[in-house]
Amino acid sequence: MRCSICDQKIELTFLDKIKGTYIKKKLVCRVCQQKYKKEELLQKI
Ligand SMILES: [Zn+2]
Repeated sequence: MRCSICDQKIELTFLDKIKGTYIKKKLVCRVCQQKYKKEELLQKI
């Protein structure tokens, strides 16, 4: 799985949860979540 914005590989936690989130059904990593505001993410996706 890769981030929809920066294309970095997204790893899973030991509980098999992704280290990221879904915005409009697209995957976004934690780095991008911190880097951009939600409105910016919605525009980039
Ligand atoms: Zn990213």
